[in-house]
Amino acid sequence: MLVLTGAGISTESGIPDFRSPGGLWTRYDPRKLTFDLFCSRLETRRDYWRLATETYPILRDAEPNAAHRAVAEIERAGKLLCLVTQNVDGLHLKAGSSRERTVEIHGSSLRATCIDCGAEHDREQLHRLLLAGKVEVPSCELCGGRVKPATISFGQSMPEKETARAFAAAGDCDLLIVIGSSLVVYPAASLPDVAVKAGASLVIVNNEATPKDDLAAALVRGAAGESMTMLLRGAGLADGAQLSPRS
Ligand code: NAD
Ligand code: ZN
Repeated sequence: MLVLTGAGISTESGIPDFRSPGGLWTRYDPRKLTFDLFCSRLETRRDYWRLATETYPILRDAEPNAAHRAVAEIERAGKLLCLVTQNVDGLHLKAGSSRERTVEIHGSSLRATCIDCGAEHDREQLHRLLLAGKVEVPSCELCGGRVKPATISFGQSMPEKETARAFAAAGDCDLLIVIGSSLVVYPAASLPDVAVKAGASLVIVNNEATPKDDLAAALVRGAAGESMTMLLRGAGLADGAQLSPRS
């Protein structure tokens, strides 16, 4: 089974999705923070890091919900081929999904890398420096290059290895479950087409219609946490108690 998740799986963890009114992602103009502008303008890098300093603690401190735990449970039960997430919040890994089977196709906000030499930078340490006003625009101590949160920005090319893995899994799976994605952001939105064409069944768990609903064998229209708890119980994979937060 392949699982594809989007921002809607994390709204119950307090992280707004793309379009929620007033959501963090609606308070800036993505056209002004494209990858090209990040690379070419110091001012854009400053704005980008200002926004990242605002959003990072929210993502870092969020806790996974029942839907993230359900996905981890599917893996523990030996039923998961691959988990592809469009999210940058790290919540699947926090919920117990393994690094080996998780593909963060849009990267992660919890990491930072130098876009010039590829060096990894400690995101938490950068955050403290930014918050204390000691740094406004981080630069790489190894090469003097530009450091960026390890997410894929508008206009930035998709990571090759991760994208290839996601598409290979879509071609190999027998079942694709999509959870909390509007399925309008490409290339991830074409994974259902690839999977169905290769003979897999598609199940979409979302609280509104998506453009891929016609391809689906089943639509579960509701909140991700409750829907996934119900689906797992139905499949005999969990009694529900396992999906409650650990006290
Ligand atoms: P999207 O915001 O386009 O779509 C989310 C979908 O989930 C919507 O159809 C919405 O109605 C639905 N939804 C919201 N809450 C739900 C819930 N509790 N239960 C069921 N459905 C729910 O998200 P997308 O398809 O992932 O595309 C947006 C892009 O923005 C992605 O590239 C993603 O990387 C990025 N993003 C990530 C985060 C995150 O990391 N948590 C948050 C916002 C945006
Ligand atoms: Zn560097």
